[in-house]
Amino acid sequence: MREKLVAGNWKMNGNLKESVSLLNALVTDISTIGSNTSYAVCVPYPYLAVAQSTLKNTTIKWGAQNVSQHESGAFTGEVSAIMLNDFECTYVIVGHSERRMLFGESNQVVAEKYLAAQKAGLVPILCVGETLEQRDSDITEQVIYEQLNTVMTVAGVDSFRNAVIAYEPVWAIGTGKTATPQQAQDIHHFIRQSIVKQNAEVASGLTILYGGSVKANNAAELFAMPDIDGGLIGGASLIAEEFIAICSAIS
Ligand code: PEP
Repeated sequence: MREKLVAGNWKMNGNLKESVSLLNALVTDISTIGSNTSYAVCVPYPYLAVAQSTLKNTTIKWGAQNVSQHESGAFTGEVSAIMLNDFECTYVIVGHSERRMLFGESNQVVAEKYLAAQKAGLVPILCVGETLEQRDSDITEQVIYEQLNTVMTVAGVDSFRNAVIAYEPVWAIGTGKTATPQQAQDIHHFIRQSIVKQNAEVASGLTILYGGSVKANNAAELFAMPDIDGGLIGGASLIAEEFIAICSAIS
């Protein structure tokens, strides 16, 4: 059985006080939902230490939102995978569309970050997805295949044994426009089939999340689709009650 996962992506939001209070609220509320799903929050770097101390010995895991592809050296402002290990991160998001679009991360750079994360024992949450323009031009599958294939070329298909993929249509992120459950399922199925061609066993065990304006009121129908194994939640992960409601929507 594939692992189910609901992960929050806090992005660059909040301050120390708000982060501590959100973490504490999650710890209190998560204990009220019993399930075999994993839960995680990917917090800004400066709040990893409080995530570590607050979430240790709870069922909630934590991680970062980006990592350098380099191990160490003269890379001012960057954070390595080894440094994330010091904070006992489980996950790190790589290739979020905001990183790809606002910070110019190419498929190759994302694949190198993914590999650096895995080498350090972190589980990368690899984000893939198309823009509205690409969807309208009917090249969604081609775009996503190239994103996946670069990772398979750099890290190998076996690397998906210790990774999570998040399908995040760029047009649905932070826009309030969610993919319909069928639209999301179609792409999740495409992603899984692309990996089946290389290794069916790896593909069937791979957790594939949907991300893009998931809220408490649309999570259950998305999570009910056969190839959707959970969600990567942006805005709604900043409100404890909403995030917990989304976590409760998975069965
Ligand atoms: C995200 O940034 O990963 C995301 C899914 O954002 P939102 O849920 O706000 O659309």
